[in-house]
Amino acid sequence: MASEAGTKSRRIESNFADVHPALTDDEAVAEASRCLYCYDAPCMRACPTRIDIPGFIRQILHRNPIGSARTILDANIFGGSCARVCPTDVLCEGACVDNTLLKAPVQIGRLQRFACDTAAEASLGFYSPGAATRRRVAVIGAGPAGLTCAHELRKRGHDVTIYEAGKVAGGLNTLGIAAYKITTDFALTEVNRILAMGVVLRLNTPVDGTRLASLLSEYDAVFLSIGLGRTAPLDIPGEKLKGVWESLEFIFQTHTKPLAKCKVGRRVVVVGGGNTAMDAANAAIKLGAESVTIAYRRDRGAMPAFDHEYDYTIGNAVQFEWNARPVRIVGKGGKAIGLRCIRTRQSKSQRGAKLTDVPKSEFTIPADMVIKALGQEPLADLLTSIPKLKLNRKRRIVIDPTTGATSVPKLFAGGDCALTPMEEVVSAVQSGKVGAAGIHAMLSEVKR
Ligand code: SF4
Repeated sequence: MASEAGTKSRRIESNFADVHPALTDDEAVAEASRCLYCYDAPCMRACPTRIDIPGFIRQILHRNPIGSARTILDANIFGGSCARVCPTDVLCEGACVDNTLLKAPVQIGRLQRFACDTAAEASLGFYSPGAATRRRVAVIGAGPAGLTCAHELRKRGHDVTIYEAGKVAGGLNTLGIAAYKITTDFALTEVNRILAMGVVLRLNTPVDGTRLASLLSEYDAVFLSIGLGRTAPLDIPGEKLKGVWESLEFIFQTHTKPLAKCKVGRRVVVVGGGNTAMDAANAAIKLGAESVTIAYRRDRGAMPAFDHEYDYTIGNAVQFEWNARPVRIVGKGGKAIGLRCIRTRQSKSQRGAKLTDVPKSEFTIPADMVIKALGQEPLADLLTSIPKLKLNRKRRIVIDPTTGATSVPKLFAGGDCALTPMEEVVSAVQSGKVGAAGIHAMLSEVKR
């Protein structure tokens, strides 16, 4: 029995092995030699943080991975994480293949990972705080946007305290991306490089509207990077049944428990068509589900998940039920036993196209676990409690894109609470950089 459990545990661990294993030294040099070092490099323009991609690739070619890591981290302090989780085929590598004569793009993500891993293994921090300004900034939320903002502000000598509601720093980059893409340990390595700059981190410290008002009067500036809240409900009967999960809750467990102890159903249905739905479905298969089906109310052409995520999911034998709109979670004895859906018809094969139900087309997908992956909702209660804070119609904070400033004096914002949905870690990092520069400019102008 014990050895059977050990075999199962090893199998699950191996299922979660790196999707894109690290390059060896010689492989990295060989890959770097493929770069054309393009003038006005299109890859660089496609990177939201504007990493000097040909520059860091050239350093790898000259067997200087530490210098290469420094080039990357100067532009993106989460360079190692982004190397693992960025959709490189639609960003830098997509630009490389589209704009050069290469048959296949340079593997920029894997080269970036090679350099950043080399620096992480050598425990290199690279940065130190700037000369003290005695200006104090509060950052609310320790995700990639807040941590990047804190890092940039410490480089400029400002004191920074981060208030984080959760138990762990790093936000979704640490806990919300499937563990086969990024491990908790690596994500925390990059968090710790930032904290080592003398950032004060207060975990388990949620901030409400009243507390935020007092922070605004206590500190010289506040950067709001609280991310988003719970997964949107399906609004159908049966959501309270045992066996119904939120996608992030399902993925979180792969970072917070031994993989063999993670809960998974025998037959799993994931509802949604975004990248998080793909992550949840792949994680369920890797945890040992016998069958996993993704139910999406539109067709393949309208699905928001990236092509590479879809291809990877198909490769893991996940089934898709297209044009399937959930109408009820079927239960027995308080537990989920299936997802009842109705077929839909689309006016066009694209997102936002009008959907109509096909009469008499209901069917049930048997399932003992139903994972909701419809995207997260804004933290509306907090945002609407802040007087004069301007929100857009999707209840995200309206900011000046050049400074991160909000409609409230001294309050800046970035990350998912201010960006449009479907943004990536790399965009959150950039918004943290913009917010820090905006705060620094304001503090430099305001005389004490
Ligand atoms: Fe190198 Fe491709 Fe970037 Fe050109 S576009 S500099 S070939 S990585």
